[in-house]
Amino acid sequence: MSEEPEVPEQLPPYRIEGARSSRSSCKGCRKKIEKGTLRLGVMIEGPFGSGYLWFHLKCAAKRRIEDVENAYGEKAWDEGVQVPSIESLRQIAAEAAVEKQTRKTAPYVEIAPSGRSKCKQCAEPIEQGAPRIVLLRAVEFGNQVRNGPIAVHPRCVAAALAAPDNASEEPGLRASLRQNSLDVAPAAVERALGELGAVDR
Ligand SMILES: [Zn+2]
Ligand SMILES: [Zn+2]
Repeated sequence: MSEEPEVPEQLPPYRIEGARSSRSSCKGCRKKIEKGTLRLGVMIEGPFGSGYLWFHLKCAAKRRIEDVENAYGEKAWDEGVQVPSIESLRQIAAEAAVEKQTRKTAPYVEIAPSGRSKCKQCAEPIEQGAPRIVLLRAVEFGNQVRNGPIAVHPRCVAAALAAPDNASEEPGLRASLRQNSLDVAPAAVERALGELGAVDR
């Protein structure tokens, strides 16, 4: 749990510090935290007492930004420790969230879980239970461009593919949608494909 030998009585819930040794490992990426590298400790209560789970500060931002926000709220570091801005860590968190979603290999068909989402192409709501198509669109993060997922009505796919920031390929789109949407009922996938019009014909 923690390599620190003595745990003081009043352990604050979070601690940000330069690692005092190279003996701790990050619970996010599982790699060693080199001495001097900024790490976030999240206090946990275990059967043998309490101690810190350590994360590289950046790995914590990627995986548990809420804890990072709390630690910053408490200024959980000693005077003189240079920490990056919370904005830069929020940006890391946002990029990680987009990457995670993208990993579900867009393009794919999904069923709208509620009626609250809006089509990114026509801005009209997507009906609850209706199939929607997730495509990739170039998204700017500061000065970087990443591909992020957008959901559109099947009937709006043609227009979305023609958008200047579109990052999905039209050739083979139908085959990709079938292949990447195995968790959706085949009938719903075919219904969505039926609304694509001239796309990938
Ligand atoms: Zn890490
Ligand atoms: Zn639409």
